[in-house]
Amino acid sequence: MKNIAALQALLSSPKSIAIVMHQRPDADALGSGLALAALLKQQQHQVRVIAPSVYPAYLSWMVGAAEITIYAHGRHEQVAAVLNHAEIIFCVDFPTLDRIDEMAPMVAQTTATKVVIDHHPTADSFGDLVFHNTQAAATAELLYEMIIALGLQSSIDAAMADCLYAGLMTDTGSFKHPNTTAQTHRVAAQLMAHGADVAQVNRQVYGSKALNSLKFLGFALCHRLVVYEAYHTAYFVIKAEDYEQYQLQTGDTEGLVDYALSVQGIVFAAIIKETKEGIRISLRSVGDVPVNIWAQEHFGGGGHKNAAGGISYLSLEETIVQFEDLVKAKQEILNPHL
Ligand code: 5GP
Ligand code: MN
Repeated sequence: MKNIAALQALLSSPKSIAIVMHQRPDADALGSGLALAALLKQQQHQVRVIAPSVYPAYLSWMVGAAEITIYAHGRHEQVAAVLNHAEIIFCVDFPTLDRIDEMAPMVAQTTATKVVIDHHPTADSFGDLVFHNTQAAATAELLYEMIIALGLQSSIDAAMADCLYAGLMTDTGSFKHPNTTAQTHRVAAQLMAHGADVAQVNRQVYGSKALNSLKFLGFALCHRLVVYEAYHTAYFVIKAEDYEQYQLQTGDTEGLVDYALSVQGIVFAAIIKETKEGIRISLRSVGDVPVNIWAQEHFGGGGHKNAAGGISYLSLEETIVQFEDLVKAKQEILNPHL
């Protein structure tokens, strides 16, 4: 594996290490970051994990989650101190620094060696040591391969295996999206051999929902779903008042967009969501519908070909119009039979 000898050399003596994941971290970012942290701590490194913003409550079981420093929780100075003190900064599950928002210049200006571990398509990777593989279904898959290449497989314990398995499971939609490969299954099998409790991880991630969030799902399906059969498109519009009414927490709309995509004949799905930061857009697609390019072109975002996101700073109404214009402009891609 390219760069692995350089990483091995870098880690050959105890170092002060910061691990940074992307904002609004998901199970892959969090699981990879925390598994890496646990591994490096075992190797006598001093490790701090930083998240730009809060992680969903259904991931709080992950080993070390409670010790994460969350920048958005007023920890600006603490984060700056950790980053400036670090000799190595691992950047996990993101290809470009804009994914860590306000923390981007803070990481960029440090003298630490930046090690990127990521699987998102990107034109330009940053970092001094880059481990980048878009064929990996999840960063967790790539990280597992790196751990093997470093010769540290015997250090993987059940808690780490659970974290990595959660990343693999969620980024593949439970091993059903086209990013799932034979290697993904091999890594999943290996993680089970290391003690990953598949049933327990599933239960924690998919089977521990707040009742309100399930009632919200019913409401959203009945009242917030728009289906454009002619364009093979379906999308949810989630208003700020819906958040209040159903007391939604971070992560409570996770997976909602998949219901839109599961409607018969639909190849393009979205959530258009009113948040404090702006109108958040989540895009999903089936087949040759490149939503990462659309997210980049129209919503300043990016992601994978079939799963991407971005943000709009227009009003909710204007954003919906912008989205509908996009759908109309892409009509030929959405309906190749026209
Ligand atoms: P989600 O819709 O679950 O929030 O995000 C799906 C995927 O889109 C993520 O895994 C990530 O790769 C990408 N993504 C989401 N939001 C953004 C964003 O604001 N910027 C970029 N570059 N990618 C995003
Ligand atoms: Mn990922």
